[in-house]
Amino acid sequence: MVLPDDFYCRDEAERRWLSVCGELASRFAGRAEAHDREGSFPFENFEELRQAGYLTLTVPRAYGGSGAGVFLMVLCQEALARGDGSTALGAGWHQMTLGRLAARPTWPAAAVEKVFRDAAERGALINGAVSEPATGSPSRGGRPTTAARRVGDGWVLAGRKVFTTMAPGIATFVVSASAEGIEQTASFLVPRDAPGVSIVETWDALGMRASGSHDLVLTDVPLPAESLVEPAPRPDGAADAGAEVRGGSTAGWGLHIPATYLGVARAAADDAARFAVRRRPNSLQGSIAEVPHIQEKIGEMERQLLAAYNLLFTLARRWDDDPAARQAMAGAVAACKTLVMDAVLHVVDLAGRVVGAAGLTRGVPIERYYRDVRPGLHNPPMEDAVLAALARQAIRQAEAAP
Ligand SMILES: Cc1cc2nc3c(=O)[nH]c(=O)nc-3n(C[C@H](O)[C@H](O)[C@H](O)COP(=O)(O)OP(=O)(O)OC[C@H]3O[C@@H](n4cnc5c(N)ncnc54)[C@H](O)[C@@H]3O)c2cc1C
Repeated sequence: MVLPDDFYCRDEAERRWLSVCGELASRFAGRAEAHDREGSFPFENFEELRQAGYLTLTVPRAYGGSGAGVFLMVLCQEALARGDGSTALGAGWHQMTLGRLAARPTWPAAAVEKVFRDAAERGALINGAVSEPATGSPSRGGRPTTAARRVGDGWVLAGRKVFTTMAPGIATFVVSASAEGIEQTASFLVPRDAPGVSIVETWDALGMRASGSHDLVLTDVPLPAESLVEPAPRPDGAADAGAEVRGGSTAGWGLHIPATYLGVARAAADDAARFAVRRRPNSLQGSIAEVPHIQEKIGEMERQLLAAYNLLFTLARRWDDDPAARQAMAGAVAACKTLVMDAVLHVVDLAGRVVGAAGLTRGVPIERYYRDVRPGLHNPPMEDAVLAALARQAIRQAEAAP
C-alpha cells in the first residue's frame, strides 16, 4: 500500500480501534470461505464484535457507547471488510442506524434511550427494513406497501421487506410503512420476537452471501403506540420546533458503504500482490512479480486505491470536524460512494487478471472478493441519482453565473 494503514489517524484511540478491527478481520477471514459457500450467517463474528465493544461504537457516550463519528466508523468498517465483507456490511448498517440517530435524535426520547441502551448494554443489533419488491430502492421515494393500521391505542403491521441485512441476528428492525392517518412514510420499531415476525431465507445471491439479507415477513404484528418513531408523534399536534435545531443532514453516515467495499478491494489487491511474488512458472527465471505487465496492474491498483482512500477519509474527517459544511458536502458525499465503487470494481478486476485462471476456483479468496463487491452497485446512493444531482447543481451554478 502507498500509505500506512494509520496514515489518516489522528490519535491513539483511532489507532487502537484500527488495530482491534485488524485482529477481528484476521479471524473473520478464516471463516469467510465457509460462510460464503454455505450462505450462512456468521453469528460468531458478531459475537466477537460484541465482545470487542464494536457494536457500541457509534452509541453516544452518555448511553455507555464510544460516541464515534463518521471518520472512526469508516476507518473501522474498511479494516473489518478486509476480513469479511458480509460481516462488515451488516455491522455498517448497524453503526449507521445508531450514528444517524445520535446526530439527529428526532424519535421520541424513550425510543432513543431504549435503542442506545440495548446496543450499549447487550450489543443488540439494529437495522432498517425499508426495501420492498413494489418500491425497489426506497431512495427512489416509492411509498411502502407495508401497512400499519390503528387498533385500539396501538398498531398492527402487515407486509414484507426484502434485502434485510443481518436478518438472522437483528434484535430490532426499523420498518418503514404507510400508516393509517399519517401522510409521510412512517417508521416503526419492531422487535424480532414480536408475534407475527418471521424471516424467510431468500438471500442466495452472487456476493455478500453471508450477509443474511433475507426477507422480513410481518403478519399482523401487534405493536404498542410507542413503536411509531417517525414521524415522532406530538401529543398536542404542535409542529416539532426542536427538529430544526436537532436536524441537519445525516448523509455522512452512509459512507460506511464505500468504506466496506473499499476494504474488500484492498484485500483483493493484497492477495494479488502476494500471489504475484509466489507464482514462479517455469517459463520465467523468477516470479511473475518481475514481469512488467503484472507490475503495471499492481501499480494501477495502488493508484486507484490511493485516490479512493483519500477521498473517503478526507470527506469523513471534514464531516465530523465541520458541521457547518455538511449541507454543502451532500453532493460530494453521494459522489464519493460511486467514485469509490468505480475504483473498487476496477481493482478487483485487475487483481483477477494478475492471479489468472487460478483465481476462478471456488474457495480462492480472489474469487469471493470479485463477487462480494458487485452488490455495492445496488446499495444507495444509486449512480444515476448521484449524477442527476451533480448535474442539477452544476447547471444551477452556471445559470447563476454572471
Ligand atoms: C447486499 C445488499 C444489502 C442490502 N441491505 C439492505 C438492508 O439492510 N435494508 C434494506 O431496506 N435494503 C437493503 N438493500 C436493498 C437496497 O438498498 C436496494 O433497495 C436494493 O438493492 C434494490 O435496489 P435496485 O436499484 O436494484 O432496485 P430497483 O429500485 O427495483 O431498481 C431496478 C432498476 O430500475 C432502475 N430504477 C428503479 N426505479 C427507478 C426510478 N424511479 N428512476 C430511475 N431508475 C429507476 C434502477 O436504477 C435499476 O436499474 C440491500 C441490497 C443489497 C444488494
